[in-house]
Amino acid sequence: MITAAIRFPEKGIFKMKDTLVMKNMQQPIRLKNMSPGELAEQIRSTGEPAFRANQVIKWVYQKRVDSFEEMKNVSKATRRMLAGKFTIEKLPVAAVLPSPRGDAVKFGFALRGDPYIIESVLLFDGDRHTACLSSQLGCSLGCTFCETGNLGFIRNLTQEEIIGQLIGINDYCGKMGERLVTNIVFMGMGEALSNFEAFRASLAVIMNEECFNIGGRRITVSTAGVIPSIERLMREDLAIGLAISLNGYSNEGRSAVMPINKKYPIETLTAIAARYFKKTGRRVTFEYIVIQGETDTPEAAQSLLKLIGSLPCKINLIPLNPPPGKPGTPSQEELIRFLERLHGLGLAATIRAGRGRDIGGACGQLTARKYPFPDTEAGGNASPANR
Ligand code: SF4
Repeated sequence: MITAAIRFPEKGIFKMKDTLVMKNMQQPIRLKNMSPGELAEQIRSTGEPAFRANQVIKWVYQKRVDSFEEMKNVSKATRRMLAGKFTIEKLPVAAVLPSPRGDAVKFGFALRGDPYIIESVLLFDGDRHTACLSSQLGCSLGCTFCETGNLGFIRNLTQEEIIGQLIGINDYCGKMGERLVTNIVFMGMGEALSNFEAFRASLAVIMNEECFNIGGRRITVSTAGVIPSIERLMREDLAIGLAISLNGYSNEGRSAVMPINKKYPIETLTAIAARYFKKTGRRVTFEYIVIQGETDTPEAAQSLLKLIGSLPCKINLIPLNPPPGKPGTPSQEELIRFLERLHGLGLAATIRAGRGRDIGGACGQLTARKYPFPDTEAGGNASPANR
């Protein structure tokens, strides 16, 4: 929910001619669109021993190779066979934009077959390296403050495209001598819970010990409030963190900025938040955009108390990041004043750090902008020395 898609200039990176040639060839199986179990099954069906799948998984997700040739503990003949059957190509990195402040890096990834670049963000917070991933190209939910919403819905991202962002970010960390990604937030472009199958399938890979081994306690999905998908999340016992974009203290105010509120109003969100805690033991986070003079008033604080004061939850205050020249961003003093007002009412609240704000990677900075520089290589100045 903090990123945007960027259309390639007329002459796209992938030409139509390439696509036509591909159509006449036997399409290889896209390995990163399979679950670890499906992959094991496929490899077993070629007559290979059971351990082969584990070897391949480690090469692909831990060592992040993009060619079977690099799998040195696999025989040449098997490598050739695997290369004829599967593809493990990476999502092309189109741009890398490190923050001069050194606390965030924004990535642009090209999509094969679509002339768009999707964005992801890496956020540094001490030892915690969080990847903020996109799940859809565009979004159908049309929140008024969101440029991704303004694009409309183009298509869902595949499992491979979601996982591909994480691989690309880990490649960058590796090249920079950094710790690999430790935490995941699905707060990039799109509503992950509206692309449930690919989101769920990506989680299976992210959480798998042989793949990325990132546990549910270090994963959070942000949602505009797609209730049936939250129900499904609970049924599937994933116990990941849940963040609900509240962004209003009345149904009227919320509906004005988040049309989904007409279908799933605030009462349904608070009810499901209570159930989520009961089921998972995890407190839901309510994300709340602070707009100067609008959502940071004493009335707003009192209304929040009534709405969620009895829930085991916390509020994450996000200062509005309007497009340049537009008003609405609260000053740090105003933000702290509102935070203290909430604390005074007994509400658990924090202010989200503005990491990535200077590179258009923070919440609400959602423009389909062109990158200021056309790097195609991971690199830049986000070294620890710059943090
Ligand atoms: S759900 Fe709303 S905020 Fe999130 S990507 Fe879609 S339009 Fe943007």
